[in-house]
Amino acid sequence: MRLIEYEGLSLLSEAGIPTPRFRVVSDPDEAVKAAVEVGLPVVLKAQVLVGGRGKAGGVKFAESLDEVERIAGALFGSEIRGERVGRVMVAEAVKHSEELYLSIIVDRASNTHLILASRMGGVDVEELSKRMPEKLIKVSVDPLIGLRDWQVRRVSSLLDLPSGLAPKIQDIVRRLYEVYRAFYCDLAEINPLAQTEDGRLIALDAKLIIDDNAARMFGFRFGGGLDAEREAEKLGLNYVELEGDIGIICNGAGLTMATMDLIHSLGRRPACFLDLGGGASAEKVYEAVKFLFNRPHVKLVLLNVLAGITRSDEVAEGIVRAYDEFRGSKKIVVRLTGTREEEGRRILESRNIGYFTRMPEAAEEAVRQLATSS
Ligand code: GDP
Ligand code: MN
Repeated sequence: MRLIEYEGLSLLSEAGIPTPRFRVVSDPDEAVKAAVEVGLPVVLKAQVLVGGRGKAGGVKFAESLDEVERIAGALFGSEIRGERVGRVMVAEAVKHSEELYLSIIVDRASNTHLILASRMGGVDVEELSKRMPEKLIKVSVDPLIGLRDWQVRRVSSLLDLPSGLAPKIQDIVRRLYEVYRAFYCDLAEINPLAQTEDGRLIALDAKLIIDDNAARMFGFRFGGGLDAEREAEKLGLNYVELEGDIGIICNGAGLTMATMDLIHSLGRRPACFLDLGGGASAEKVYEAVKFLFNRPHVKLVLLNVLAGITRSDEVAEGIVRAYDEFRGSKKIVVRLTGTREEEGRRILESRNIGYFTRMPEAAEEAVRQLATSS
């Protein structure tokens, strides 16, 4: 499981590795407030899991609050290499003169941990090892013996940094190794590790891939899922993060479980589920649908509601509002039946939304749409 940048940076920071001050926000207004808190100038970074965000336009600098608002406005809802931006990091823009590379990986060929380091940070390590393998320092660590001091000193002497930085890089290597071991990482990477003119080293980006079981044990979920659950709670939504790609919204626990089983039986996996409970208003449905549209791993939303106390027209209104807000860019399939069904149907028919009254048909349509899109 790959952690999203801010989760990784938080772990590094907790382990005592210097990182920039940052906040994670979910709309332009919050971005402006965050910029005031961390201090201008700032860098706005799309919290997506795809690599090479910088090149793909996911990392932008802002000098003023106006700029923060404008750039954040453009970032939110945009797509970086096919992944929708639902969250942005606002980080202090650290002025630096050099970019280093530092990582620790599992080396399956030799069954060791491998420390990789380079003065040529900022670029992809694959590219670096292809184009300038001599610039990539490799020190392997026997997992049974653990990290020895001479290995740390070797990394630092091969990097050949200005003298004052040697103890700092050594400290970071040790701490990164601790994170790597403690979280059962397959990869713990800092790229770039910035070297500032006043002689500091600061981790500007973190890529941590941790063992799936360890991730569960430590409460990490794909793409900041635990955070998502907390956020949903604040909105009064009953949300549970999973790892597939179909986001499920239902009313009532029984219907929710039945819908999940149905998706599984069709060979797909739910990305999450959200139980609206009884008597959901248009507003609540709107919040729920929007919330799922914003989850990076949700490729399609399947909403399955049996209207009783809940009214179909309210549900339909909420759906349409969220759908329009995303200008139809997100996929949703709806099964809606019961109270005020006709009114609900009419509202939905004005949009290009798959609508069904029977549950198996809706689930099949959801799976079909995903199969044709990927
Ligand atoms: P990636 O493209 O997904 O790896 O995103 P990074 O977080 O590594 O950012 C890409 C590039 O943006 C880095 O190599 C830096 O040159 C630059 N960058 C990122 N964060 C900062 C920052 O806080 N300050 C400055 N000056 N540059 C940054
Ligand atoms: Mn990077």
